[in-house]
Amino acid sequence: MASARPGDGIATLLAAQEGGATSAAHLVEASLHAIAQHDGELNSFVRVAADAAREQAARVDRRRAQGEPVGPLAGIPLGIKDNLLQQGLPAQAGSRILEGFVAPVDSTVVARLRAADAVLVGKTNLDEFAMGSGSETSVHGPVRNPWDHRRVAGGSSGGSAAAVAAGLVTAALGSDTGGSVRQPAAFCGLVGLKPTYGRVSRSGLIAFASSLDQVGPLASCVEDAARILQVIGGPDPADATAAPEPLPDLLAACRQGRAAGLPGIRLGVPRQFFPPGLDPRIADGVGQALDALGRAGATLVELDLPATAHGVAAYYLIAPAEAAANLARFDGVRYGRRAAGVADVAELYGRSRAEGFGPEVIRRLLLGTFALSAGYQERYYLRALQTRTLIREELQQAFRQVDLIAGPTTPGPPYLLGELAADPLAQYLQDCFTIPASLAGLPALSLPCGVTPEGLPVGLQLLAPAFQEQRLLAGAAAAEACLPPPRRLGGPA
Ligand code: GLN
Repeated sequence: MASARPGDGIATLLAAQEGGATSAAHLVEASLHAIAQHDGELNSFVRVAADAAREQAARVDRRRAQGEPVGPLAGIPLGIKDNLLQQGLPAQAGSRILEGFVAPVDSTVVARLRAADAVLVGKTNLDEFAMGSGSETSVHGPVRNPWDHRRVAGGSSGGSAAAVAAGLVTAALGSDTGGSVRQPAAFCGLVGLKPTYGRVSRSGLIAFASSLDQVGPLASCVEDAARILQVIGGPDPADATAAPEPLPDLLAACRQGRAAGLPGIRLGVPRQFFPPGLDPRIADGVGQALDALGRAGATLVELDLPATAHGVAAYYLIAPAEAAANLARFDGVRYGRRAAGVADVAELYGRSRAEGFGPEVIRRLLLGTFALSAGYQERYYLRALQTRTLIREELQQAFRQVDLIAGPTTPGPPYLLGELAADPLAQYLQDCFTIPASLAGLPALSLPCGVTPEGLPVGLQLLAPAFQEQRLLAGAAAAEACLPPPRRLGGPA
């Protein structure tokens, strides 16, 4: 029983429990032990719900022992990004302003994971309100990359990525507005899946930019990501933007994709995803991966997608504009922390917000408020929306010629902690390859595709048409089988 580890992958852990080689109780103890041992350094968890997780694991074991049916994630230890509500636990989204706020309800995704008998071990660290690329702006301190502790784990779902990469949990939920699931997955050698906008309910996700936010899994293989999306996705009456389309069988899609391989798949490679000056470690790593996919039978098609080059500019108007509206609710009255000793309500709002928000959040709120202000709205916000439409149409057109689009997930390997702290624009440019799918609402996934000469993970990004997660996962499973398997870090001993 001592051999099963949280990092072993869902299929292995389900089979080991069914065969009696391990139990949910053993797995949760292994996860808690690994967190106690490694997370002081990594800082991937902001809160560990040990008692609740043990109770949940005991329930699963009891049900199995009694021969009762168990859910599709029975006994699997998972982490939840701390901008998702989990009833009874604080949800702070990395911000001082939410100090003391306790989630009164479960988010839809958390409720669905519970119903699937997953074991929710704790809440993971992130950039404040999910705004960032390095998980460095959290009030709980920065997350470290398990591959190299001097480097960032990516962001904003850096805690989720570090926890999975270090084997502290089997998989974790993140949220992706402009790349926050895919980029940390790339930085930590994981699979990270951003579903189609509307595929997963946002109910109970602390909103950053509502027209972009999607919840998605970080996992160690394509199949695990598919298993989790299968549970969390699908229509939800609690979120009007959750699409009515039923979820197809995603596990079957992975298996069919793996069996069919890459022959017949047309893979579009936009030249804008390999701009001049791209870090050669990424250009080489992803270039070699694409060659390997070509040798395995995929047809590589060069694409020209000029509008995607304006994605970052459009995103950094649209996302802050929506954030400025969404974060107006944090005023010191209704949620979390309240400034003390104020004279009147105006001072209460002003001081609570000034004390509660960190500098990156304040920068975005100022940017967003400016972009929406009378006289500037047309010049900035509306032009950004037009650019978004161009990008969406350009990608739609491209999918008439190709089945999937491929390229790097990030413009460089994981950077050093603090390296980009003084340069917000350099950080924003980290999102250049992930933002197009976000603006267009398309499903996209990052897949580990090798390491740089110094041994840092490199991510290959795949994009599919809206609501074609089946195609995306099939292609990713086929690609995964042709690429060098990512090195697994030690995880729990
Ligand atoms: N890095 C991007 C940003 O800072 C994306 C964040 C996200 O997807 N939540 O906005």
